[in-house]
Amino acid sequence: SPAMSSGPVWEYLRRLLEETSGISDGKVADYIPELAKADPEDFAIAIATVDGTVYSAGCDEREFTIQSVSKPFLFAHAIETHGIGAVLRKVGVEPTGDPFNSIVLDDLNNRPFNPMVNAGAIAMAEMLAARTPDARQAELLEMFGKFAGRGLGIDEAVYRSESETGHRNRAIAYMMLNSGMIDGPPEEVLDIYFRQCSVGVTTRDLAVMASTLAAHGRNPVTGARVLAPDTVRDVLSVMATCGMYDYAGQWMFDVGLPAKSGVSGAIIAVLPGQLGIAVYSPRLDSVGNSIRGVEVCKRLARDFSLHAYIDR
Ligand code: GLU
Repeated sequence: SPAMSSGPVWEYLRRLLEETSGISDGKVADYIPELAKADPEDFAIAIATVDGTVYSAGCDEREFTIQSVSKPFLFAHAIETHGIGAVLRKVGVEPTGDPFNSIVLDDLNNRPFNPMVNAGAIAMAEMLAARTPDARQAELLEMFGKFAGRGLGIDEAVYRSESETGHRNRAIAYMMLNSGMIDGPPEEVLDIYFRQCSVGVTTRDLAVMASTLAAHGRNPVTGARVLAPDTVRDVLSVMATCGMYDYAGQWMFDVGLPAKSGVSGAIIAVLPGQLGIAVYSPRLDSVGNSIRGVEVCKRLARDFSLHAYIDR
């Protein structure tokens, strides 16, 4: 079991967790009532390498909801299902400079700016191939399961909480119905979006998902090919520019890796060809990133020279 595992990387991760567990700044997201129930002290780090080894520390098997870390995977799935041309008619690849839940489209094409903000993610949710709610949920879970290498489920309490309170996302979906970016009834599209955000994952799952992107689309643990390398290139490009809310530029400067964070307090980061990183700690800063998560990634980047643009 992971708790028994030893060696320099395991020890490094346990020490890193210990050194940063004193950080208690920030606040657990509470705009989705169910998320406010998270334990603010929960903390886990996992690293999965492209040879299929997963290292971890902390509450690495505790489940939480994936939230916006789902977005790169839905974007990838849309590209694989419809081709990049069709996807780019529904979503751009430009950072917004606005918060993730902004009710705004780019006024040149009426498209959501990118698939990492809610508007773009809601457009991607409609691009699932299945047409009925049950079949869509099955498609969603099958897709996530391939990345994680195990069967995943939906946290029904979080799903209901999101669905009951997600009126801002409703405003975004209706705006996109008006501009032709979604075709179906907004409530049906939103239902997929709320479900995709409510998928339960562990920190180890997220590291394996990130390592599948690092391995150019092959899941290093199961060996299955999940995405074509060209899809991975497109997804990582958007993660690099739009993955960390309004901290995306500073993040690229400080850490230098394509990444995605979510309001449950999860962050994934990818070093192509090498490894995937996942951190979970629910207390967030003012733009919505996990405070310990960002600090852990900064230290990992420094200690292992991970920044994409250093001289190797
Ligand atoms: N379900 C959340 C929302 O739409 C996701 C937000 C996030 O993680 O950025 O508000």
